[in-house]
Amino acid sequence: MLAGYMGKFLWVDLSTGVMHEEIPDEQLFRDFVGGYGVAARILFDRMPGGVDPLGPQNILSFTTGPLTGSPAQTGTRWTVACKSPLTGGWGDANASGWWGVALKAAGYDAIFFTGAAAKPIYLYIENGKAELRDAAGIWGKDCYEIEDWTKATFGKDAESACIGPSGESLSLISAVIHAKGRAAGRSGVGAVMGSKKLKAIVVKGKQKPSLANPELAKEVKRKYSKQITGGTGFADFYRATGTPGYTATGIRNGDSPTRNWGASVAHAAAPEPVEFDELLKYRVKRGACWQCPVSCWGSSTVEYNGQQIEAHQPEYETAAAFGSMLLNNNLPSLIKANEICNRYGLDTISAGAGVAFAFECFEHGLITKADTGGLDLQWGDHQAIIAMAEKMARREDFGNVIADGVMRAAQKVGPAAEPFAVHAGGQELPMHDPRFEPAMAVIYKMDATPGRHTQACQYIVPAGYKTDMPNFGENRNAQKGRGLYIKEASCLTHTMNASGTCLFGYLSTTVDFVAEYMTAVTGQNFTVDDMLKVGERIANIRQAFNVREGINAVTQPDPKRAYGMPALPDGPTGGFTVDLKMLVAEHLGKMGWTQDAAVPLPETLEALGLSDVSQQIWANRN
Ligand code: SF4
Repeated sequence: MLAGYMGKFLWVDLSTGVMHEEIPDEQLFRDFVGGYGVAARILFDRMPGGVDPLGPQNILSFTTGPLTGSPAQTGTRWTVACKSPLTGGWGDANASGWWGVALKAAGYDAIFFTGAAAKPIYLYIENGKAELRDAAGIWGKDCYEIEDWTKATFGKDAESACIGPSGESLSLISAVIHAKGRAAGRSGVGAVMGSKKLKAIVVKGKQKPSLANPELAKEVKRKYSKQITGGTGFADFYRATGTPGYTATGIRNGDSPTRNWGASVAHAAAPEPVEFDELLKYRVKRGACWQCPVSCWGSSTVEYNGQQIEAHQPEYETAAAFGSMLLNNNLPSLIKANEICNRYGLDTISAGAGVAFAFECFEHGLITKADTGGLDLQWGDHQAIIAMAEKMARREDFGNVIADGVMRAAQKVGPAAEPFAVHAGGQELPMHDPRFEPAMAVIYKMDATPGRHTQACQYIVPAGYKTDMPNFGENRNAQKGRGLYIKEASCLTHTMNASGTCLFGYLSTTVDFVAEYMTAVTGQNFTVDDMLKVGERIANIRQAFNVREGINAVTQPDPKRAYGMPALPDGPTGGFTVDLKMLVAEHLGKMGWTQDAAVPLPETLEALGLSDVSQQIWANRN
């Protein structure tokens, strides 16, 4: 077995309560590294196409990477993957904190859940001993309460990943939450956990993965410590402010979607009240995940509606989703919105998008006070925003409708609401406007988990990566050619995600960061070319998963307003339309996927050692 891995998976059949261990083949790790790479290979192989995402046949996986819990800075990531109930295709979401490190310390690289329990249960693993336990006493508790219960019951070194009331009620935008705010938010993974009546997974232990070359690991660690403290890439940004430092910037430069994507930032509420310095006034302490020198996050406390609340400081995505999207610049309300989502276990991006959808439906008379429980939804009214978010979390009134995402909400409200439901394949778009960076439209449309900004690293490659990609700079009108470079950005990012390192560490170092640690930790001679190759394999098997589900990403309806169709009349992105057809064609050509349906071509799959996948997805197509 390669070093860096525990070399063991735990399989849990929740229908029968039977558990067994699997010793995975080393080649699986060589080919797919870990995280959603390994999960994609296993779920593609062991789950038939067409299963009900909320049914017992869906496999819910929790995976780590070889760099999770390793000496690598930011090696904290763990991934939840399954068939997504939101998109009907491949679903994954990852989070940081301590849980992934603790899972390895408990003895496993990954856990795979099949079946569904008849009554609420939780899984407890300590040093290789796993036990399913009755969760009757904790069902209904929110994610803050579960975190406190975990520490009080099992000790400070125990870590839990859980669902809140939103996951229990199968909200399709629900998340898996750890440490009161480290969230595996996207793809509706919380609803899948809820469908299995699995409230939490508590892990602890003292086991350590082996390290192939400790001397090299020390040397590499010194190199990247210097880079992180020396300001390589985006290191200074992440260390100084983290993503909240971008909240006001995004409003100024045009990246932040405004008024549910229907207006330019010229109409957003003023950015000054959401500057990072303002957020600092509410900060309790700076935060860092396990042994992370970047320390990009923090906790805030604020009095809101006469109640003192504490929450992780809102990341940019959260602050924009409940801020510029709703013309809201009341910072305490953004902290409150984050607290609601983290307590109930909701994806903050989809939650903010759902509330904005409700506001626009209200503005156009498609819903009234009779639907909102008396709430008067006026843009920028932070009290109404928070009240609506609470209704969504509790599934009350129209909150019950938006709790399952904007695509389904629009289907219920009717055709007039369709333009207000901004999503790709069912997943609400993140807070980076393709009218600001047009390549994002292709990433949103074509990734196997659509509507994601982290799977191609926002079209950014790390410092030092040699590419012939032109510097497109701020000239967004130079669209031609942009689609040709998404492949590189996404393949590198897939391998980084699979390794268990954090996007923010990857962007705070030079491109060799992941490859050099993979070499030192696992003992393989891993290069940047290997990153590209493994990432391409991961991209293709995820895509094949969707093809098998009958998804055609090319012909799926697009959120036209987000792509400048029609163009905005004013603001920094005014007058601009994404040339989606051209960009998608460039990307598909580069990926070796068919132009009409984004099906990986047989030669593409064969070159990646995926002939068996090719046979499956092409069997009935010719
Ligand atoms: S960079 Fe931030 S999110 Fe990433 S591991 Fe470090 S503290 Fe956690």
